[in-house]
Amino acid sequence: MKTPFATKQQLEAIAASYPTPFHIYDAEGIRQNARRLKKAFSWNPGFREYFAVKATPTPGILKLLHQEGCGTDCSSLTELMMSDRCGFHGEEIMFSSNETPPEEYVLAEKLGATINLDDFTHIDFLKDTIGYIPETISCRFNPGGLFQLSDTKEGFQVMDNPGDAKYGFTREQLFEGFKKLKAMGAKNFGIHSFLASNTISNDYYPALAGILFQLAVELQQETGCHIGFINLSGGIGVPYRPDQPENDIALIGEAVRQQYEKILVPAGMGDVAIYTELGRFMLAPYGALVTRATHEKHIYKEYIGVDACAANLMRPAMYGAYHHITVLGKEHAPCDHKYDVVGGLCENNDKFAVDRMLPKIDKGDLLFIHDTGAHGFSMGYQYNGRLRSAELLLEKDGSVELIRRAETPDDYFATLVW
Ligand SMILES: *Cc1c(COP(=O)(O)O)cnc(C)c1O
Repeated sequence: MKTPFATKQQLEAIAASYPTPFHIYDAEGIRQNARRLKKAFSWNPGFREYFAVKATPTPGILKLLHQEGCGTDCSSLTELMMSDRCGFHGEEIMFSSNETPPEEYVLAEKLGATINLDDFTHIDFLKDTIGYIPETISCRFNPGGLFQLSDTKEGFQVMDNPGDAKYGFTREQLFEGFKKLKAMGAKNFGIHSFLASNTISNDYYPALAGILFQLAVELQQETGCHIGFINLSGGIGVPYRPDQPENDIALIGEAVRQQYEKILVPAGMGDVAIYTELGRFMLAPYGALVTRATHEKHIYKEYIGVDACAANLMRPAMYGAYHHITVLGKEHAPCDHKYDVVGGLCENNDKFAVDRMLPKIDKGDLLFIHDTGAHGFSMGYQYNGRLRSAELLLEKDGSVELIRRAETPDDYFATLVW
């Protein structure tokens, strides 16, 4: 069972000022979780989480994370600009882009961001673009092949296909790249890798750490480059389904520490900083899309129409992703009705839930769509002329702050040439 972080009464009061649909975030939940992550890696003096801005590109959220000691991970010009305007500076910004336009490297350099190169050819491209190679530089590693973790009864706990992913250097390119970068003036090196997404497993980070730590030792020995940091990137997941277990970040941090002690420390590399670039783990459970049931329809199936649509939350339409739904005020009612909960796009995949057992829904009920805090609002779009919703930040004392207003038709028309 998933419990909403706000009550029906609270959300009805909020909806009186901010009409549905809206995304709402739980400030205290975000803070406590950021603190758990920091504590889990507190054994590593250089540890830093660089929040993946693409997950929730909203200043009200970024500033809150900044207060908790996080940096940002950016991959576009506007994400860099937003980080700068939110007060992130220099080494607080990681720039992990791919297919990078030159102006993005120019801005990243100007802000003093740490640049994480996606490809061997970007070494010369960066040099040609900004005129030199920064002393601190990172390279993204792609080991190729399949990445699988421990066979369980249900199958592989984690399975992804780096060999089919567009990102990163091959192993050979990484060794060549480090030598080349060193010859061009780099002094402090980092390695980065992202092998699997949304992992529900305490073993993903430790397994990745094992691979990257071993690689770091070999790289340092063969190239003489000083490895200053290892970036485990994103990929720690959240249980979108109520029956899935939660990751235990304290356990994950401890297991990474064991790999560190086993592999890096004996190689004389006990000064390496660990970085993370979590997005989903930092925010997903602490955001919700609140929408109102506006229509019901009985044809071959039972439909509940709501005032949000895939333009506000694309994951179900795009990936068939599960998002749990609580009908507010009916938390304890039996789930004895089978519904498709649908938005108003002229697209039949605009369904927040298909054949979902829920309590009887009446027109006017508020629905709390869980776990939309990351890759929720941010993947929104304007198809069908639907507009993006407001975003609200709910504080521990119950107060609410508007951190992004809803779009208006004027916003939609602003780019048009008549
Ligand atoms: C998307 C992304 C992340 C965050 O991924 P999550 O699955 O949200 O943790 C981190 N790093 C990079 C480079 C990314 O592209």
